[in-house]
Amino acid sequence: MVHTGTAFVRLAEREGAGLRVILRDVPRGREQAVRAARPVGADGLHSAVRAMLHPGEGPPLWNGIRMWRGVTEWHPVLGGRVVAVAGSNAAAKLVVYPISRAAEERGRALLNWVAEVRFPRTRRHAMAGPADWNRSGRLSDVLPYYAGWRVGDLDVPALLASTRHILEYPMVDRDPLPHWGRGPVTLLGDAAHPMYPVGSNGGSQAVLDARVLARCLAYTSPDREAGLRAYEEVRREAANALVTAHRDMPAERVLQTVAERAPDGFARVEDVLTPSELADLSAAYRRTTGVDAAELNSRGSWGVG
Ligand SMILES: Cc1cc2nc3c(=O)[nH]c(=O)nc-3n(C[C@H](O)[C@H](O)[C@H](O)COP(=O)(O)OP(=O)(O)OC[C@H]3O[C@@H](n4cnc5c(N)ncnc54)[C@H](O)[C@@H]3O)c2cc1C
Repeated sequence: MVHTGTAFVRLAEREGAGLRVILRDVPRGREQAVRAARPVGADGLHSAVRAMLHPGEGPPLWNGIRMWRGVTEWHPVLGGRVVAVAGSNAAAKLVVYPISRAAEERGRALLNWVAEVRFPRTRRHAMAGPADWNRSGRLSDVLPYYAGWRVGDLDVPALLASTRHILEYPMVDRDPLPHWGRGPVTLLGDAAHPMYPVGSNGGSQAVLDARVLARCLAYTSPDREAGLRAYEEVRREAANALVTAHRDMPAERVLQTVAERAPDGFARVEDVLTPSELADLSAAYRRTTGVDAAELNSRGSWGVG
């Protein structure tokens, strides 16, 4: 059964009644108990389930980068279906890409952009702000860092200024955990392993967790706890390694090396990096994130059956 509009509060175990999840009805504030054999905390960065399992961990860890994000309809730029990455996380970086086929078919482009600005340690204390995925950002905060930026035929300040609703977040993660769950409870997705959004991996890792968890539960049934522990055994080390790798992503190293060597821009990346540097950097990125198509296709399925 799906209980919408409710928030996890705590677990309760009553003699003979098994494990129950106490949920709070968010609009009314009333609490209700729901039977749950194997609660899975998939409640994101500020996971209440994680806080229960790992008390005293504290807030997410901020790396000094503020991110602003927006979506706006624009004319097609950069030749169409292109992910443009400009600048680097050493100072200011911009990522822009189109996200709508419908807009493309109308001869337009719905552009998703993320602007990331690193702040010096001395100015950070007042800058972090809460990690709330729905917090509105202000154009006047982000625009100064992109004054005069042009990426090919894209006028960056004009794009930012035309965006109606801008969001803002600090770039945060949490330290890898030595274990996710305990007894009949476990964690999944950002609740288990929030990572910096620099490699487009967080969402897909949550999907992988769900897939592996379903298989482990199916193959260890009826021993519920064995299924949860098998899931953690497969997923925890790999997900933790990604959290750590995202603190020093090879993709970021490419951008920083290029920014240092060609601060005034360049026409071809081959003029800035040697072929072997390019090959090494791209191989390191593929190794970290496991995106090699041939290797993926050669692996067995995580399906059940
Ligand atoms: C700026 C940015 C860009 C990103 N870009 C990408 C990308 O390109 N590709 C990618 O794969 N990932 C990306 N990510 C990461 C991705 O968004 C997350 O990894 C993913 O959303 C995690 O999914 P989740 O279901 O674990 O957590 P969430 O998506 O955070 O979902 C958690 C849910 O739990 C609910 N919840 C919270 N507290 C409670 C409670 N007490 N009780 C009940 N429910 C609760 C929340 O309301 C929410 O609905 C990005 C993240 C950010 C911040």
